[in-house]
Amino acid sequence: MKYKSIHIVPIGTEGIHVINTGDWRIQRPVIDQEKCIKCGICFLHCPVNSIVKTNGKFTIKYDYCKGCGICAHECPKRAINLLAEEEK
Ligand code: SF4
Ligand code: SF4
Repeated sequence: MKYKSIHIVPIGTEGIHVINTGDWRIQRPVIDQEKCIKCGICFLHCPVNSIVKTNGKFTIKYDYCKGCGICAHECPKRAINLLAEEEK
């Protein structure tokens, strides 16, 4: 099996599994860069470290983003929109 990046999570007695949490996402958070004030609150709250700061700009990496919406809920500028994922 080949993965772009790997989170390894131990589960039960049967061993260690790789879980790509992005696979079960039904909604996708998208940052409106025009509204974003680069406060980093979304970055601090994401439970799976899927928000990164690159060249002074916050962006979302979708491999492990599970679409929980915490980032959108916590954003003080309402700069993160949750869009429905297209059917795969
Ligand atoms: S919480 Fe909102 S305003 Fe702050 S960095 Fe994230 S998207 Fe931008
Ligand atoms: S939706 Fe959840 S997992 Fe995805 S970036 Fe926002 S806080 Fe992180």
